[in-house]
Amino acid sequence: MIQDSHSQLRESLGAYVLGQLDPAETDMVRAHLDTCADCRAEVTELSPVAAALAGAKQTSSQGPDEVPAGLHARMDTAILAEAGRRRRSRISRSVGALLVAASIAVLIGFGLTSLLDRTPDAPVPEVVAVSVDPQLDAVTASAGLIAHTWGTEVKLQTSGLDAGASYSAVVLGAGDLEFPAGTFTGTGANTINCNLQASVLRADARGFQILDQRGEVVISSEF
Ligand SMILES: [Zn+2]
Repeated sequence: MIQDSHSQLRESLGAYVLGQLDPAETDMVRAHLDTCADCRAEVTELSPVAAALAGAKQTSSQGPDEVPAGLHARMDTAILAEAGRRRRSRISRSVGALLVAASIAVLIGFGLTSLLDRTPDAPVPEVVAVSVDPQLDAVTASAGLIAHTWGTEVKLQTSGLDAGASYSAVVLGAGDLEFPAGTFTGTGANTINCNLQASVLRADARGFQILDQRGEVVISSEF
């Protein structure tokens, strides 16, 4: 049981340092932190990233663009999930590198904002049909594709995925090939806009899948 709560709560640590958990979840995380040095270490490493994100928001709020309510929170959750993933995979254990990644993600977030505003130069996504696991009746999803010279981008808009849970995306290519397209964190009833990028060209891409932590397909599309 202790190990189960460790892997579940681990995914909530990003939301925890951002103060986005509800009181019951916060209590669960705190209780776990009392018993788990590994998770305490992760919180210690994530806290400066959360502080840097708070600073970036203050700076960006002086800009002319209105950022939709909730976008920052969703971006932050995604950035911290990525930061935690990188740390665990030992690609990068340096908080400095994470801050660079966070800055880039903030910039990408602003790019996303302008796409949502439908600026004239933004490419128009090719809308594709999306299926949701029928057992997940709270989940909604829609998606569009953008063909790039380097691969395919899936612009996924979804809501109802478990808050704090981690989801991974793959784009399906020819045969059994699966191309990783990133990870994101569910935000409950709040709508998330995810730009999922895979290194398979649009002409070779035949679908995508969003998988939960157990590897079950929760959202899928065939094109
Ligand atoms: Zn733990």
